[in-house]
Amino acid sequence: MPGFALEPDQREWCADLRTLAGERLRPLAEQGAPGRVNRPLVEALGAHGLLARLFDSGALDLCLMRESLAYACTEAETALALQGLGAHPVAAYGTPAQRERWLPEVTAGRAIAAFALSEPDAGSDAAALGLKAARDQGGWRLTGEKCWISNAPEADFYTVFARTTPDAGARGVTAFLVPADRPGLSGAALDLLSPHAIGSLDFDGVPVGADDVLGEPDRGFGVAMNTLNLFRPSVGAFAVGMAQAALDATLAHTATRTAFGGPLKDLQAVAHQVADMATRTEAARLLVYAAAAAHDRGDAGIARGSAMAKLFATETAQYVVDTAVQLHGARALQRGHLLEHLYRDVRAPRIYEGASEVQRTIIAKELYR
Ligand SMILES: Cc1cc2nc3c(=O)[nH]c(=O)nc-3n(C[C@H](O)[C@H](O)[C@H](O)COP(=O)(O)OP(=O)(O)OC[C@H]3O[C@@H](n4cnc5c(N)ncnc54)[C@H](O)[C@@H]3O)c2cc1C
Repeated sequence: MPGFALEPDQREWCADLRTLAGERLRPLAEQGAPGRVNRPLVEALGAHGLLARLFDSGALDLCLMRESLAYACTEAETALALQGLGAHPVAAYGTPAQRERWLPEVTAGRAIAAFALSEPDAGSDAAALGLKAARDQGGWRLTGEKCWISNAPEADFYTVFARTTPDAGARGVTAFLVPADRPGLSGAALDLLSPHAIGSLDFDGVPVGADDVLGEPDRGFGVAMNTLNLFRPSVGAFAVGMAQAALDATLAHTATRTAFGGPLKDLQAVAHQVADMATRTEAARLLVYAAAAAHDRGDAGIARGSAMAKLFATETAQYVVDTAVQLHGARALQRGHLLEHLYRDVRAPRIYEGASEVQRTIIAKELYR
């Protein structure tokens, strides 16, 4: 792919995905309950082959899927992304038995996956995580808490990051695949501004064995970081899809809404804002594509490009959606309006998978390396 444009077949695929999201997935999303996992929606993502694509293609395809779905149905986008985030460690680090047990179910949309890294006292500073894995008869027992885990407590399995070696920071963390029905594992839903299923998990001596380890003991932080490196540009793609939806709605609205004797678009103060929204959205899109393509080529400097893409795209989407609300006036704030929905959805990506400040720290570190 050239640095500045998609191939025609990629553009066609994105158009097909937008149509699929608008016509087939949106009706399923609308039938779901807010804050709950929407299993029919996830099964539809499986039936249309999108979940399988998560594991047999690269970062750019992931970005194109997330951007296209987000444009027409953010619920479908998020459901897809969470299956990828939760199951990528299994696909990349799982044993043949773990992969055979879970990946066909995940790609069919029958099993719901979740990625459990954050804790009440370890968010941005994930290496400080304290979920305790204590040695027990050749295995371990997990004790502690995870919170703000998307798809919890309804997921069917969790990729859980636990501390196997105390006081060793990032070097003492192990990744485990923990089925939801393990004794001692419970959870509760949390009610967030962000409109998707999310909750906390409580581990009360949950037994795990060598067969449940993803990768190697004490090397789990690398599992988490490699997963986040793959997904970071695609969070930007989610943001670009939302920004484009807000921009298109604004173009349509300002071309038809009249005030002071003409359409809003004839007011230069309005038209220039729309021009800025479009320019910044396009710049974000190009950064996202460049970072994803660099990831797929295995280029050096991936951390910097991924962080720039995530930072710029999520901050841009916040600005674009906010400006879109302003240019729509009161109607945008009405419950059920596209922009009311986007206004709630656009906020969290500036915090999760590395807050904007953390992305800036990554970029600066790479610049001064
Ligand atoms: C909708 C949503 C879904 C999520 N899903 C998941 C999930 O599926 N799995 C999971 O494990 N976690 C998930 N999280 C948790 C998310 O990863 C954390 O919220 C994130 O890592 C930030 O941690 P924190 O909220 O504890 O904020 P803190 O780490 O307490 O940081 C608070 C603020 O301090 C500032 N800050 C922090 N560090 C720095 C720094 N180094 N330099 C400058 N400023 C800094 C930033 O402004 C930051 O926003 C989700 C969160 C949300 C909101």
